[in-house]
Amino acid sequence: MPTQAKGWGTESADQPLRPMSFERRDLRPNDVAIRITHAGICHSDLHTCRDDWGGTRYPTIPGHEIVGTVTAVGSEVTRHAIGDTVAVGCMVDSCMECTQCLEGWEVFCERGGSTFTYNGKDRHDGSLTKGGYSDHIIVRDHFVCSVPQGMDVARVAPLLCAGITTYSPLRQYGVGESSKVAVVGLGGLGHMGVKLAAAMGAHVTMITTTPSKGADARELGAHDLIISTDAEQMAAAGNRFNFILNTIPVAHDIQPYLMLLGRAGRMVIVGAIEPMPGYHGGLLISHNRAVGGSAIGGIPETQEMLDFCAAKDIYPDCEMIRMDQVNEAYERLLKNEVRYRFVIDMAQGL
Ligand code: NAP
Ligand code: ZN
Repeated sequence: MPTQAKGWGTESADQPLRPMSFERRDLRPNDVAIRITHAGICHSDLHTCRDDWGGTRYPTIPGHEIVGTVTAVGSEVTRHAIGDTVAVGCMVDSCMECTQCLEGWEVFCERGGSTFTYNGKDRHDGSLTKGGYSDHIIVRDHFVCSVPQGMDVARVAPLLCAGITTYSPLRQYGVGESSKVAVVGLGGLGHMGVKLAAAMGAHVTMITTTPSKGADARELGAHDLIISTDAEQMAAAGNRFNFILNTIPVAHDIQPYLMLLGRAGRMVIVGAIEPMPGYHGGLLISHNRAVGGSAIGGIPETQEMLDFCAAKDIYPDCEMIRMDQVNEAYERLLKNEVRYRFVIDMAQGL
């Protein structure tokens, strides 16, 4: 029998979020049912609600940084059991048969990409997927990660998107003790980028538009700070970095940042998912620089990231809110006022 769920979502790009009731599917044999205790607020949730990228299907119920407790499992599930504390990120399903899926890159599933946690199309019944701003969720077992024993459950949720989206490129490009890393944009993703790169042993520089975040950046683990609007500071940092993680959430000129890369340096863009202005090819040819992108990270890598954070005691800086504060939280996110991730505490009511 499908179950009745409660959540918060929106019916159009110009409407605030409001309480909604909807159905969750009956358990399939490989499904896990989760009572959600916490959901992080990612800037992508806001982009989707406001249809910034086009393609939002309404009503949309966002939320892809999810932590909760297993309440039921399908007949074929072996990895999770009732009572386990688990976590779900941006994906809830994929074909699990193609090369990308088998190699742990489910997001690039060759059969139509992975199924996203919200605003996605369920690959079995065609229904619109609905995310973590809700009381419970049903997810295919492979896409459910285990929260390591002893972790502070209230602060885990943002790891499932902000954490893995920054951990994955840092790992893909071998960031370690000899790396000079810059993180651009001190928001939800950026603050995790700083913590993770520092924990991997890199020398980390925060590049921000907001001078008042300087002290925070150092507390988060940054060794150095550059204010990107200060041309002198930017010029002085030319050719300095091996790796730049760029989390700016909107289109922008990447040339000033490319100039900061040293020989064979790479900038990975994770934030701006929209058309970008061009750049001079000479900036890549000079110093053999590269620019690329990165999409979240795979499920095995997400579990690795959770285990890494548990071992190193790394948590996001969370501001806990009630579900009915979500619209106010979105406005503060737009005004660049969050330090550094909102987490909805479902225990305070939906
Ligand atoms: P966020 O909390 O709003 O942080 C973004 C930060 O970027 C801001 O705190 C600000 O930092 C800086 N910034 C904002 N507007 C800027 C502008 N116009 N120019 C320069 N810097 C600006 O957002 P988030 O949750 O970290 O998400 C960042 C982006 O990543 C979003 O677009 C989101 O959709 C995307 N995302 C991508 C993936 C992926 O798979 N690639 C996954 C998750 C999220 P300062 O004040 O320090 O300048
Ligand atoms: Zn996200």
